[in-house]
Parts: sequence; structure tokens; C-alpha cells
Amino acid sequence: SQVRHLSARAAPIGARFILLLAEDRTEEIRLEGVRRDFVANVSHELKTPIGAVTLLADAIDAASDDPERVRAFAQRLMVEAARLGALTQELIDLSRVQDDDPLDDPERIEVERVVERAVDAVRVAAEAKRIRISTRVADAPSVLGDEAMLVMALQNLVSNAVQYSPDGSHVGVGVRMSDDLVEVSVTDKGVGIAPGDAQRVFERFYRVDPARSRVTGGTGLGLSITKHIAVSHGGEVQLWSRLGQGSTFTLRLPVAQPEAQGAA
Ligand code: ADP
Repeated sequence: SQVRHLSARAAPIGARFILLLAEDRTEEIRLEGVRRDFVANVSHELKTPIGAVTLLADAIDAASDDPERVRAFAQRLMVEAARLGALTQELIDLSRVQDDDPLDDPERIEVERVVERAVDAVRVAAEAKRIRISTRVADAPSVLGDEAMLVMALQNLVSNAVQYSPDGSHVGVGVRMSDDLVEVSVTDKGVGIAPGDAQRVFERFYRVDPARSRVTGGTGLGLSITKHIAVSHGGEVQLWSRLGQGSTFTLRLPVAQPEAQGAA
């Protein structure tokens, strides 16, 4: 069984009695650990590109009489700077969505529009790999939530589907109803995910293959952001995958009730 952390406080009542208050601090202590790990992870993730930027700046300085090499180093410097920029942006996104509390001020949002915007955002990356993205969104319902966040959640899934698929393959985005949930699924025929990793890919900074991610520029934050957004919308993300064959990530969200009819 789990160890629980209790703290006791004594409060005097008058001269002869004291009141003993016991408090369960287990969750608080767990969260402290999560926060510490997170800061350690962020620092580690920042160190690599910052180290590279420093080295490359030095190399440019040392190569100043060789324009060819200066240009080559400068190009790599831009890649590392872009990495730092992307990581910073994802950290900002994550901090915005991290608490899984329900949204304060949800709006009625067309799922079809969310799909269009998410796919548009990934189009250039897909074209660079000659990957065709097809969508099937007819009769998609509305959900209650924050459109920018839902676009971000889905965009992470579509962007991963492109990133972890071979050139020239196909990614499908489809919408279907399942009871009172709408399911938006993103299917790829890419590298797939082994069962042991499938549990963990939603954790912050978890990457199946960090060496490969380093090349492709992944941060390991995208899926945790998507999961937080799903939960704060009262939904969830499901994963089906087979190693070497492909993956389907499904965003499941409660459908908005039909708009109340105005009084006659
Ligand atoms: P990253 O920035 O590394 O893509 P994510 O949180 O989006 O971070 O994903 C975590 C890890 O899950 C990835 O590094 C990758 O190993 C794996 N992954 C995510 N999506 C897919 C996919 N569609 N196919 C195969 N592996 C995937």
C-alpha cells in the first residue's frame, strides 16, 4: 500500500487543552516531486541547444576569414535557435493548458473548422514529405470549448502523423459520433508505437527515440499538451498503434447540446 505523508499541528485552546490537527500532505508532496522533475527536464532540454548555439557562435568567430564555413555554421545556428524558439513556445502552451480544470468561458465551436485549421497548419510540412492528408468531416457537430486550444490539440496529432511517417505516405483525419461524444481520429501508416511506449508517450518530454527526435526537432511535449487540452474539455485522447504499421490517435470530446430555442 501507498505511504501517506501526514503532518500534525497543535493549536492551544485556553490553558489546559490543545487541539491536534492532522493533515494529509501526500498529494502536495507528490506534486512537489512532479514540479522538481519538470524543472530538471526543462533545464536539461534547454542545455543542449544553448550549448550548441554557444559552440557555433565560437566557430563562426574562429572561421571569420572563410565565408563558406561561416555560412554553414550560421545555418546550423539558425536551426538550433529555431529549436529553442519552438521549445519555449511549447512550454508557454503547456503552462496555459496544464491545469485540467474545466474551461471558464467555453464557446460553441464547429469541429469541422477545428479540423480545417489544424490540417492547414501542417500542410507545408506534409508537402515537404509529399504526404497527402485527407479529411472526412461531413456533418461534424459542435463542441463547447476554446477553439485555439482545440486546434493546437489536433494540430499536434496531425503534425506527429506527418513527422513519424515515411515520405509519400498518407494521413487521414476523420470525424465520427460515438454516443454523445465526437471522435476526431488521425491515422497514419508510419513507424508505429510499441505497447510499452504507448502508455508513456503522453508524459511530458517522453520520446520513444530521443536520438531520432533530436534530428526531427521534437520536444516530447506535444502529446502531453494535447492530453491536457482534451481533459480540460471533458474529453480524452486514445491511442491505437502497431509497431511498423502505423498509429491512430483519437480525440474524444463531449458534443455541445443543441442551442436552446429562444422563447416564442
Ligand atoms: P515530439 O515532440 O517528440 O513529437 P510528442 O509528445 O508529440 O513529442 O510525442 C512523444 C513521442 O511519441 C514522440 O517522440 C514519438 O516517439 C511518439 N509519437 C508521437 N506520435 C507518433 C506517431 N504518430 N507515430 C509514431 N510515434 C509517435
